Amino acid sequence: MTGEVEPPRVDSPQILVVEDDAELRAMLERLLQDSGYAVDVAGDGQAGLHLALTRSYDVLLVDRGLPAIDGLDLLRRLRRRGIATPALFLTAYGELSDRVAGLDAGAEDYVVKPFEVDELLARLRALRRRHLATATVLTLGSGELDVASRAVRLADGTEVVLSAREMALLHALAVRPNRVFSRDELRELVFEAAESASIVDTYVHYLRRKLGSGVVRTVWGLGYRAGTL
Ligand code: CA
Repeated sequence: MTGEVEPPRVDSPQILVVEDDAELRAMLERLLQDSGYAVDVAGDGQAGLHLALTRSYDVLLVDRGLPAIDGLDLLRRLRRRGIATPALFLTAYGELSDRVAGLDAGAEDYVVKPFEVDELLARLRALRRRHLATATVLTLGSGELDVASRAVRLADGTEVVLSAREMALLHALAVRPNRVFSRDELRELVFEAAESASIVDTYVHYLRRKLGSGVVRTVWGLGYRAGTL
């Protein structure tokens, strides 16, 4: 008998953890997996750099003090190569200059060790949300999203202006065009905590009305992914 075809599934948010302390690394891996992340780990800066350059992640968690290539240098190298994945630094207690240097190097936020697990998870969520709010221009199929001005430029030169929430939703999908997002994850990334996941469906409907039915693809029973303009 042939094996069953594996059904398509929602992709978990992907995180890279770069931490040289083996015990902490294993703890973070378990914790993040339990929280719904797909986790890659690296034990030094060189391995972390290699993974970050060759795979695509939703968020990076990088220890400041690392062998081979330290955390600061790792972030700088990634930013120089145009990799803008949001990054959270882990830094030792009380080292203010470390934190400032980390932010200068391209980390968006830091957590001081020892940290509370809930705080770390909340910071990761906040970081991903904030990252989506930063000004940028993205391509989607033959069109372009200008996130700051909320304008979508189509291949024929037409411009369609979206509401802030419409743009936030389309941006969230377009940043990772090959990923299937659950409605819950999109609600968490784009809308307020108090809203139900059906608000995602409502805004997908708005986007399709403005930009055509192909702009967002429904993955039945799972959620949504970016389509094309
Ligand atoms: Ca370390």
